[in-house]
Amino acid sequence: MSYIPATLRRKVAIAAKHRCGYCLTAQKISGAQMHIEHIVPLAHGGTSDEANLWLACAWCNSHKGDQTHAVDPETTQTRPLYNPRAQRWSDHFQWSDDGTQIIGLTPIGRTSVKALQLNNDFIVAARRFWVQAGWHPPQE
Ligand SMILES: [Zn+2]
Repeated sequence: MSYIPATLRRKVAIAAKHRCGYCLTAQKISGAQMHIEHIVPLAHGGTSDEANLWLACAWCNSHKGDQTHAVDPETTQTRPLYNPRAQRWSDHFQWSDDGTQIIGLTPIGRTSVKALQLNNDFIVAARRFWVQAGWHPPQE
């Protein structure tokens, strides 16, 4: 953990549109405070500078841990994880037709879906209700 000033937290939250950079869950429907996430983890020399910070839900942040790369389930090659500050979500992911599952479109997308467990049973169950309520999936 590192101290991140409130003004910087607010700035990052606004840049991230108040939603998780990985699964796009919106702060207002998540039921839990979003984390300020280090894109390059402190354990790997990442800093707490604005350029290395983004918003992530507790699920994504905890599953990401200190990983920067993981294994692509399709090719078994090691690939970098998605970078929500530098890359476009829709270039690497799409929603399933029913809006409850994130589909990885690229090696980075597939690797990130698996490593961050973007379709874990708990979040998929919540997404079903969010879809029924018309709150999900988000527009980019
Ligand atoms: Zn998330």
